[in-house]
Amino acid sequence: MNHQTPIISKAVIKGCIRVVTGLRIGGPGTGVKIGGVDQPVIADPYGKPYIPGSSLKGKMRSLIEKKERVKFENGKHTCQSPESYKNCPVCKIWGIMGDKVKDAPTLTRIIVRDTFLDENSITEEMHRNLELRWTEIKVENAIDRITGTALSRSLRQLERVPAGARFSPLEIIYTCYEQDDKEIFKKIFEAMELLEHDYLGGMGSRGYGKVKFENLVIYWNRPEDYENGNTNQNKVNGGFNTPAMILQHYEEILNKLS
Ligand SMILES: [Zn+2]
Repeated sequence: MNHQTPIISKAVIKGCIRVVTGLRIGGPGTGVKIGGVDQPVIADPYGKPYIPGSSLKGKMRSLIEKKERVKFENGKHTCQSPESYKNCPVCKIWGIMGDKVKDAPTLTRIIVRDTFLDENSITEEMHRNLELRWTEIKVENAIDRITGTALSRSLRQLERVPAGARFSPLEIIYTCYEQDDKEIFKKIFEAMELLEHDYLGGMGSRGYGKVKFENLVIYWNRPEDYENGNTNQNKVNGGFNTPAMILQHYEEILNKLS
């Protein structure tokens, strides 16, 4: 393989992310209290919360790293030799940090887009109960880890996206450069399934951040589909629209990745 290797195909995964327990992805602290919240969530220029692609991609990577039992150095994993890179689905899919692998092309196969709040998922009833336009405010104690008691003057007002909210459209692009990439494509759905049993954002130890991936559709786009303007026509996952169902039927799906 070299840098002139033609792109074989691209998979486009679409779907939605449902918030099962309040989701808190912290925004940049501006020092300005908005509506009394000192810990806002990340929001788009219209003030609506969103899930940054980098947060989702990073969390998926860290979960699959643990599952694959990769080697860590200074708390990070990055393959450094072409031999280890060749056999490492994590670095092949999620990319390497820095430019560590000598004499080997290192192509990141996954792109995770930002996913925006679906306004219609916030019902009238939810709106009546929310403290802010799209979000709720939760007051949390900071707990002294040694004594287990609440620290004095420790109440924090945390903004979070309420349970029941949906973010869509989720969009993940996966580029296949070689035949083996069709096999390791499966790791993306393993990472999603691991994330459903973990948490997204902060405060997971207090029950925040449970999410579910729903209505997943996988389109398989071949080079000729790009030439003919026929992208996102060839759906390959049938009715299997959750990470678990896709994994259970992965062999069937793999057969359709021509
Ligand atoms: Zn690696």
